[in-house]
Amino acid sequence: MATHPGRLSPPDIDPDTRVPERSAVPPPVHGVLADERTTTTDGTVVVRDLVRAYGLGEGDGRVLRGLDLSIAAGEFVAILGRSGSGKSTLLRALAGLDHDVHGTGTIAVPDRVSVVFQDSRLLPWARVLDNVTLGLKGSRVRELGVERLAEVGLAGRERAWPTELSGGEQQRVSLARSLVREPQLLLADEPFGALDALTRIRMHGLLRDLYARHEPAVLLVTHDVDEAIVLADRVIVLDQGQIALHVEVGIDGPRDTADPRFADLRAQLLAALGVPLTERAPL
Ligand code: ADP
Ligand code: MG
Repeated sequence: MATHPGRLSPPDIDPDTRVPERSAVPPPVHGVLADERTTTTDGTVVVRDLVRAYGLGEGDGRVLRGLDLSIAAGEFVAILGRSGSGKSTLLRALAGLDHDVHGTGTIAVPDRVSVVFQDSRLLPWARVLDNVTLGLKGSRVRELGVERLAEVGLAGRERAWPTELSGGEQQRVSLARSLVREPQLLLADEPFGALDALTRIRMHGLLRDLYARHEPAVLLVTHDVDEAIVLADRVIVLDQGQIALHVEVGIDGPRDTADPRFADLRAQLLAALGVPLTERAPL
């Protein structure tokens, strides 16, 4: 077969693995939200009777089933739940980022809310400092960005590109970006889920320090029971679209996994998550 120099002949495509034609891709789904959404001035979060359902039908499509939740100003709450239990759906509802879902309920959140996701979602074509200050205006924005980067241990990396950073460093940038907005509520959806175990432990220390300094209310979604106990004031377990368990951590000072109170809490939370005793790693 004659080929042009520099031009590749089309590859053989197995009909079963072909990307569907454009017309075969379903249109984006939009939901209908009938929420009452208000802003609190005292930094608290109040959620009442929150229902969320994907797909057109109610009933089986319901992911959140009349959920109630309050978070005090400056309180750190961790939320655990099996995969698919609706943790991210709840977080997106609080962030006002749920346009593809049906639902009702009342949501009151503070005015300044920041969100951190598992992937850092940095713009690859913008330098680190520009990622941190993206969308903000004002004479002090740059200075604040530099300050926050120093707080997360990235002083001097302002002009780096995101791809020059490790995964842990990218999450540090994402934390700096959330803090530069001085949030009264920080929503974090498995922010350390993609990091290796050692980096994760260092990030726990960093998040605790940042929390102590800035005192936002925090809602941290995690599937790591120890992470929840190490970081939070209160841990919630989500099951079947409702809150199945609420526990106060109540351990002062550094939280040591070897502390018997830590082990008790862990056992209680694992039981609520439906992990049988025989499947738990030895302590
Ligand atoms: P979690 O974060 O606890 O793992 P999610 O809130 O992401 O759970 O999802 C809860 C349930 O809702 C899952 O069964 C999931 O498949 C479904 N779901 C989540 N997002 C969508 C969506 N955009 N469209 C349809 N179903 C979804
Ligand atoms: Mg999730």
